[in-house]
Amino acid sequence: MKSIALLLLALITAPTLTSNQTNTKPADLVFKNGNVYTANDRQPKAEAIAVNGDRIVFIGSNREAQKYVGKTTRVIDLGGKTLLPGLTDAHHHLFGVGFREITLNLEGITSLEDFLAKVKARVDQAQPGAWVTGRGWIETFWKPPVFPTRWDLDKVAPNNPVFLDRADGHGAVANSAALKIAGVDKNRPSPFGGEISKDKQTGEPNGMLLDAAQDLVQSHIPGPNAEETERALILGVKRNIQLGWTQVQDAGGSYADVALVRRLYGEGKIKLRVYKALSAPGRESQQLFRDGPIIGEQGNRLTVRTVKLYVDGSLGSRSAALLEPYSDKPDTSGLMTIKEEVLRPFLEEALRKGVQVETHAIGDRGNRFILDAYEKAFKAVPPDQRKIREPRWRIEHSQIVNPADIPRFAKLGVIPSMQASHAIGDLHFAPSRLGISRLAGAYAWSSFIKSGSIIPGGSDAPVERGEPMIEFYAAVARKDMKGFSGEGWHPEEAVTREQALKMFTVWPAYAAFEESLRGSIEVGKLADFTILSADIMKIPEMEILKTQCVMTVINGEIVYEAK
Ligand SMILES: [Zn+2]
Repeated sequence: MKSIALLLLALITAPTLTSNQTNTKPADLVFKNGNVYTANDRQPKAEAIAVNGDRIVFIGSNREAQKYVGKTTRVIDLGGKTLLPGLTDAHHHLFGVGFREITLNLEGITSLEDFLAKVKARVDQAQPGAWVTGRGWIETFWKPPVFPTRWDLDKVAPNNPVFLDRADGHGAVANSAALKIAGVDKNRPSPFGGEISKDKQTGEPNGMLLDAAQDLVQSHIPGPNAEETERALILGVKRNIQLGWTQVQDAGGSYADVALVRRLYGEGKIKLRVYKALSAPGRESQQLFRDGPIIGEQGNRLTVRTVKLYVDGSLGSRSAALLEPYSDKPDTSGLMTIKEEVLRPFLEEALRKGVQVETHAIGDRGNRFILDAYEKAFKAVPPDQRKIREPRWRIEHSQIVNPADIPRFAKLGVIPSMQASHAIGDLHFAPSRLGISRLAGAYAWSSFIKSGSIIPGGSDAPVERGEPMIEFYAAVARKDMKGFSGEGWHPEEAVTREQALKMFTVWPAYAAFEESLRGSIEVGKLADFTILSADIMKIPEMEILKTQCVMTVINGEIVYEAK
């Protein structure tokens, strides 16, 4: 039935297209000989596109596109290359990605020895007493897979304070010099929403700080200066557009970030679209409630209408809130990082003010808690008392969800914003943390889609690498980058390529209230494209990882072209 309806629609729309083309004006830009996937179900494939200014004015065949070629039109022959709607990373930390480019990057280290060697090299270059900071380590592949300690770090950094974030940002290790500056000793209690990890025998802090406990040390580290922050941001943006991202949905931050992003747009130094959330609760979100959203500024590049909350920690650090204890550490079931009495009035105010809420929730207890809280707020503030009737609130990660809670998302209109790469990194340790039976409902993309949800796809960079081809591969393969998938890893939760394309195009656009503006290739929409070296909708899975971005177009402007 559906295909007959589509055919009828095509018959009805076809004559309108031709009559429009009788009085066509030359376009600024024409792409031809392309393998175009539009992510628009009514016209899924095309050969050619014409662009005027920042908008798409034509999609169709090479022959018809010729009508848009005038004296000043730039014609790009794609030579059969694959052109997609501009890809969006629906969960990204732009400043974190920028700083990863300029500080000690500890990604990809496979042993404690290599980790310490890399730290030592940096410490040896530092001024005496200066802080050494970095991020990106994951102990999962070390032998044994245990967290590093202050005493490990003291061997290579006896004098400089050292503070190194785990890749997930929910744990960090500090050496003795850093703990001393922060006054963290055996008598210091863990703060709410965090844990000072202590040696079982002596009760001495062992250097690992989880979630809110990280602030005890972090607050003593001098922040980056303005010049460093600007350099980091420009590097982060440059990296993202080279990879083919056209928008990042930046999950948290401040008005100071917004001011910097605005200035750099004004100076023409950045072109990437940024859909920015402000950290909450606190000063930044209060200002958003007071001043109201910023929508579509800087040529539809900058929108700030969202606040970012956290309800729990992470699975890797065992701080994600679970309904039952951790299978590999039965004395804990994780921790909650927000109190209900703070959350309730906050959510109700957000509904009245028309502010979108996105909340980090990893564990099944965290997810149930925030779904309950959203549901109560929706009841307390019915649609006619809201500034925006359909608020499109999101749960970031929705990672381990009790199967009974999965259908509640679609029912409540709550959007699960998920990161495919988490599943292919976590498959090496999630089974031991959770046990086999709890894996039903973990990274359950297909179940969510079947229950009626859309899934905006993100990378959570710098928690993960932040590359669109890794995310796309992870979503369709659900195997690690060597093609491995463990026992009980629910291969049926992988998505189809058509669904994966939507995860990085139309679904993030919807989750940002931008579905009439971007996300698919349709006449009238913004001209954002990602052009790839291979057809990721057809090639064997492993080849997706070798695929390169060859061109990135934002607002009708070529912002990156591979040499
Ligand atoms: Zn994140």
